[in-house]
Amino acid sequence: MTQPLEVVDLLQQMIRNECVNDGSASSGHERRSVDLLQSELEGSGVDFEVYEPSPGRASLVGRIEGSDPAAPSLCWLGHTDVVPANADTWSRDPFGGELVEGEVWGRGAVDMLNITASMSVAFDRLARSGFRPKGTLVLAAVADEEALGSHGAGWLAEHETDAVKCDYLITESGGIPLDGPSGRRLPVMVGEKGSCWCRLRIHGEAGHASQPLRTDNALVTAAAVVGRLATYRPLAQIHSAWRNFIEGMGWPPEIARSLLDPDGIEELLDVMPDLGMARQAHACTHLTIAPTIVHGGTKINVIPDTVELELDIRTLPGQDEAQVRALVAEAIGPELWPKVEILFMVDDPASSSPIETPLWEAMSKVSEGFHPGAALVPFFSVGATDARFFRRLGTTAYGYGMFSEKLSFEQFAVMFHGDDERVDVDSLEMSAAMFEQLARRFLG
Ligand SMILES: [Zn+2]
Repeated sequence: MTQPLEVVDLLQQMIRNECVNDGSASSGHERRSVDLLQSELEGSGVDFEVYEPSPGRASLVGRIEGSDPAAPSLCWLGHTDVVPANADTWSRDPFGGELVEGEVWGRGAVDMLNITASMSVAFDRLARSGFRPKGTLVLAAVADEEALGSHGAGWLAEHETDAVKCDYLITESGGIPLDGPSGRRLPVMVGEKGSCWCRLRIHGEAGHASQPLRTDNALVTAAAVVGRLATYRPLAQIHSAWRNFIEGMGWPPEIARSLLDPDGIEELLDVMPDLGMARQAHACTHLTIAPTIVHGGTKINVIPDTVELELDIRTLPGQDEAQVRALVAEAIGPELWPKVEILFMVDDPASSSPIETPLWEAMSKVSEGFHPGAALVPFFSVGATDARFFRRLGTTAYGYGMFSEKLSFEQFAVMFHGDDERVDVDSLEMSAAMFEQLARRFLG
């Protein structure tokens, strides 16, 4: 392969590889895109390592070694898997990778094969140009971001730390222009909520369902528990990532004041006309509890003695399992709590990175060339990304990319895991150019 990589073509091929991660270990098949990237990047002269902790779940890592071991290193982290798509509800084939009127269509076009493709192209261009930086540049195209990362970034961070650990890292979720009253802002994802998934085992006493009077029916108790969880409103927490975002957006002082006040924000959330915005603002400032799965009962004529509920709980910076337990107990109330047993399944704490860093500075400068006058604004993600594994290693990790004005922030929000996912060609080229310029500026 001697032709330089081309971002549109690469993205199309990655979409067609259909690396669908449904959460099961046998899904994903990221090996397909690892093979693709490895063969496409062959001409760059860089040697790549493939890590495949379980069959088909491969990740690719390449590096351009820096000349100065003291200079800060930078990792570009892109995932190659995507979430499932229902072809019946799409206007086009979700795995066709079609280019239509300047837009590439398909699952992963914005989450995040677009960025993975742009990073790969920038890496290819740098390597081919003989780029010899002071700080090391690492490109990592990883499996399994759409589940728990245990076949991808989580595994690499734990088992191949030296191969991927850098001082700084850039991954997904950021850069889509956001126009506010004080001008254009480019959001940089600097932190994310934690996931604390748990199971509630609700106890009762078995009996004959033909005589329900004064029985201890676990399903009836479970219904009351769900009702209490649904109406529980824990207090808002104004953490620094939220404060930095609100202050950075430059909203009128009276709105900013309300958004930064725990009582003010509660009032605002109830009347905010834009439901999407209200949900986002609520999730950014509150621990949230969503009951999502229920299992219970054995037979139609038996009063159930056990019902299990699964809760998707998302935590804020500083909240741990003990605090979650206390909040769930408070929500359920003292009369029902003795019937409830809480079992934690996943505890991935919230994470965040500082913004006063040389990488922030460099991103700010480079972004000027794409959106003149726009300022970076730190943004807190309510979902999880692979950045969390690296923040735990001490890496400063941001989510960033570069986008044109062709698709709005609202459109992007709807397309993440939604139907008709697509990205415009200009955004792909802008991201590739931004990553290349950033490496030259930051790594020296
Ligand atoms: Zn993603």
